[in-house]
Amino acid sequence: MQVWNYAQPVRISFGAGKIKTLAQEVKQFGGRRGVLVTSPSFVRRGMAQQIVADSDGLLVDVYSQISPNPDVKECDACVEALQRAHADFVVALGGGSVLDCAKAAATFALSGEPSSKYLCGELPIPSAHLPLIAVPTTAGTGSEITCVAVLSDHERGVKAPLNSDGFYPALALVDSELTHSVPPHLTACTGFDVLCHATEAYWSLHHQPICDALAVHAARMVFENLQKAYDCPNDALARDRMAEASVIAGLAFTQPKTTSSHACSYALTRILDIPHGEACALTIDYFMRLNAQEGCERIHDFAHLLGYADAYALADAYAALKRATDVKSDLKAYHLTDEIVEALVEGSQHPNLRNNPIEITPQMLRTMYESMR
Ligand code: NAD
Repeated sequence: MQVWNYAQPVRISFGAGKIKTLAQEVKQFGGRRGVLVTSPSFVRRGMAQQIVADSDGLLVDVYSQISPNPDVKECDACVEALQRAHADFVVALGGGSVLDCAKAAATFALSGEPSSKYLCGELPIPSAHLPLIAVPTTAGTGSEITCVAVLSDHERGVKAPLNSDGFYPALALVDSELTHSVPPHLTACTGFDVLCHATEAYWSLHHQPICDALAVHAARMVFENLQKAYDCPNDALARDRMAEASVIAGLAFTQPKTTSSHACSYALTRILDIPHGEACALTIDYFMRLNAQEGCERIHDFAHLLGYADAYALADAYAALKRATDVKSDLKAYHLTDEIVEALVEGSQHPNLRNNPIEITPQMLRTMYESMR
């Protein structure tokens, strides 16, 4: 018999065009001086300025110096921008990188301590934080509803998730129209992030029934819509369904946590600079076969619920979808040396690996990376 808890504190407002309700939402929780945190492309395209103009004076500044896989130094600079503006709330507009950096900065702005101290575990993360509205512009990470912020310390060769209840946004404002500009390759990468969240949530050792149902729903939506969004970036319905799948998969994995593919993804991104979603996708069908071979029955259940004969047929479907959307299936292009293989093996032994339904040993990781060379 199973024992489980479920809680989800983030209010979600979902719908095409919802960005227009931002000022109204801010007024509801009494925000008065906000900073819009985003990435440079939203400033280049004028969208950040438009959002500030439509905010009835509630957004007083824009901070946009955030790159993919944000570094602790970028988070510290974001903290300074929030402090300089005397912000009492934050709006984060962007992909997972912007959302994560802003979530962490909204907490660290109140403590004033450098982000690196939290990333290396020297300081516990305080719960006090500025309220944050998360507006995702990719359909991928689910960061808009999670209590996770992934930061990197490039100098020390670290990329890792930080967890804190204070990182839960006050509101997830999900507007699929903001994802129409995502180019096809990034659409595929982020879409595979959704599929990995759903899959890993389902097979995680910490699985539970509510998250199981969410995981199946999200995976089904990815199978039905990712190819369409990849082929036709302006397919509004496919974009909307992928945005829904992303939120639902985020809800699915927050409590069970991610497992083997995400554990490996941090090393693959840090060492080989593979985009996050593509790094997760690289190993997902491999781990599906391995987990099934080693006796994880739940993966067959997941496959049946998605209409496949067993986990092996589902793994084949993942591989086919990767090929059809031009997502990496191996590491041949990197001409890996033995040293890099060993660095990948070592870097993949991340705590999330312990959530995998079977024990993954360093030798298993080595065999996997050797097979992809
Ligand atoms: P990203 O945020 O790194 O963005 C990738 C690129 O896409 C950037 O150049 C960005 O400017 C651009 N972009 C974003 N939205 C766009 C749009 N609408 N149109 C055109 N370009 C756009 O990519 P991501 O996959 O969303 O986020 C990955 C990050 O999120 C990684 O650091 C990953 O570890 C983290 N992550 C966090 C969680 C969580 O729960 N917090 C979960 C999974 C992943």
